[in-house]
Amino acid sequence: MKLRVRVDYATYSALKEVEKEYREVLDDAINYGLVNKATSFTRIKAGIYREEREKHKDLPSHYIYTACEDASERLDSFEKLKKKGRSYTDKPSVRKVTVHLDDHLWKFSLDKISIAVKRGRVFISPTFPKIFWRYYNKGWLIASEARFKLLKRNVVEFYVIFKKDEPKPYEPKAFIPVDLNENSVSLLINSKPVLLETNTKRITLGYEYRRKSITTGKSTKDREVRRKLKRLREGDKKVDIRRKLAKLIVEEAFESRSAIVLEDLPRRTPEHMVKDVKDSQLRLRIYRSAFSSMKNFIIEKAREFGVPVVLVNPSYTSTVCPVHGCKIAYQPDGGNAPRVGVCEKGEEKWHRDVVALYNLTKRAGDVSPVPLGSKESHDPYVIKMSVWLRAKSLHSIMNKHKMIEMKV
Ligand SMILES: [Zn+2]
Repeated sequence: MKLRVRVDYATYSALKEVEKEYREVLDDAINYGLVNKATSFTRIKAGIYREEREKHKDLPSHYIYTACEDASERLDSFEKLKKKGRSYTDKPSVRKVTVHLDDHLWKFSLDKISIAVKRGRVFISPTFPKIFWRYYNKGWLIASEARFKLLKRNVVEFYVIFKKDEPKPYEPKAFIPVDLNENSVSLLINSKPVLLETNTKRITLGYEYRRKSITTGKSTKDREVRRKLKRLREGDKKVDIRRKLAKLIVEEAFESRSAIVLEDLPRRTPEHMVKDVKDSQLRLRIYRSAFSSMKNFIIEKAREFGVPVVLVNPSYTSTVCPVHGCKIAYQPDGGNAPRVGVCEKGEEKWHRDVVALYNLTKRAGDVSPVPLGSKESHDPYVIKMSVWLRAKSLHSIMNKHKMIEMKV
């Protein structure tokens, strides 16, 4: 990214001095490479460093390194051009010089960039364009190498390089299955089923109700109506919830070196999932926030941390007993515990979301036995949104929970 800054005369002259000597070193380095048929940085540096150090006593020594690197790159690309028969000179020509900087030669901070010059440092204070902030705020890192070029009229063109620090995915030691639902997200933490309330459906319906009450009988072009609608900020609030939840889940997986297991596609289509919502637009909106968007947030975050994600086939994950492989019967009308079913063979009770969790792990290739008949399998630990939204980690919530359990 190019940053243009107009600087004062003293700064410009100090940089000009560096540029002049850098060019001299670069020329020597290229000549050495050509004479000795060397293009590698190490060979060029070994060949000229001592002599250049003598010639340029006040120049920070790292400029000799970066000039050798610069020479090595130029010689390399010159070689390639020559092989293709597209070079018109017998040596690479140095017309424009862009001075290369390494981490010793410059320091970045938001209010000023410092650059090493002869006998000291100079500071430049660029104004950052919008695109800069977009990268900077999105977690891109500023590379340790940078460049500058001098333009006319005391203008410095400074190049910063952004790089994405993508960690390598690790070999997972365990699995954390995550099941997405319209009002909650459930997962296994240390093989304990936990249900995090999200109330996505309830929140979406609540916003819909308020939106209706604002717009009923009024035009949406009305300024007052528009202002009120804007203040609802439904999208922002729901994004905050998803972002925080994805962060908690991914960090938990990262800490325990686990892979996250998700359903490839939700087992229920939007039509089926929120049956009781008549409005098809609204149904789709709930579906998107609770499933597709939540899933994307988790995958996105996982990529950032290098956490592997396994996507598995979603069919029948909540209706087949993970122990006996037979059907789990849920009461057709829901009854007083609509999400709890009974295994047809073993007659043990299962919470719908917990069944899904064990099946997801099995499908991801986990062979460890499923705990049978534990209380948690039909009565998972429920964490309220107000609790997890404020928590530092899922681990910290679970530890508190354990303490309370032990006291009881
Ligand atoms: Zn069973």
